Amino acid sequence: MTAELIEGGPIAEAITEQVRKDVASLASAPKLVGVLASDNPGAKYYARSQEKACAEVGIEYELRQLDADSSADDLEAEIARINADSAVTGVILLMPVPDGVNPRRVQQAIRPDKDVEGVHPANIGRLFYGDFSLAPCTPHAVVTMLRQSGVDLKGKETVVVGHSEIVGKPTVVMLLQSLMESPTVTCCHIATRDLAFHTRRAEVLVVAAGKAGLVSGDMVREGAVVIDVGINRVKVEVDGEKKTRIVGDVEFEAAVEKASMITPVPGGVGLVTTAMLLANTVECARRQS
Ligand code: NAD
Repeated sequence: MTAELIEGGPIAEAITEQVRKDVASLASAPKLVGVLASDNPGAKYYARSQEKACAEVGIEYELRQLDADSSADDLEAEIARINADSAVTGVILLMPVPDGVNPRRVQQAIRPDKDVEGVHPANIGRLFYGDFSLAPCTPHAVVTMLRQSGVDLKGKETVVVGHSEIVGKPTVVMLLQSLMESPTVTCCHIATRDLAFHTRRAEVLVVAAGKAGLVSGDMVREGAVVIDVGINRVKVEVDGEKKTRIVGDVEFEAAVEKASMITPVPGGVGLVTTAMLLANTVECARRQS
């Protein structure tokens, strides 16, 4: 079997197109602020790509660069200014935060209706009641890609690898939200004793561990639907030259021969995640208008 690709591009484009229309229908353009207290080049690159994605749909973007040795109080004071500023409709706390600062504490200072990443406890809590209107972007991307691909989840053996607060755990909760149509969900993590035992049973497999090649082809069940969330930079040698490649957590070349559907990396979950961020930004602006 060679799997059908679940491409992120068309799904992301449909969401983005709706966002464009929604932005045009608002009285004023939403404004998103990224707060960055780091000199990390990856974080700066991420902020620039957010700015570009926002510009394409008519959302204003501003990066507030704080000192890399800012304290939690400095960050919370910046968040308080943003919370009080009616011209700013959404905020993202960019990672990494300075050493010694607990990102959760700063995220909890964000007004829930400006929380475009869906990381405030109030928004996370609403997931339990099936309210996905300000859901964390990546888990929302995962469940949307499954739904848009016509995957029937009812009763399916579904394994989520990874139990982080931002990806794995909310994905599990979101998968369980339908009263009658939910899959049977197992969550694997770093302490799981026999990962392959679980993944080989999975009719639907979601992998979000951040480890290139963690799931090899022989760990994928024949006919499974595989959603690879991982983003890993690996060095490869091409024609004697060392190059950096982005790969997922699943060994794609082997898994594509066993799965019935699979997401590529890059070009899969990441694109839909960005589109979800734009949709959340519009939702925040709406709540404040
Ligand atoms: P994290 O480091 O916070 O969590 C990793 C999780 O994987 C943990 O729950 C850990 O228990 C589990 N894990 C690690 N090693 C394991 C192993 N050997 N066996 C089983 N479980 C194991 O990472 P995260 O923030 O949840 O992100 C996970 C991956 O997803 C990363 O590669 C990240 O870059 C990627 N990511 C992608 C997107 C996207 O838009 N595609 C968004 C967010 C994160």
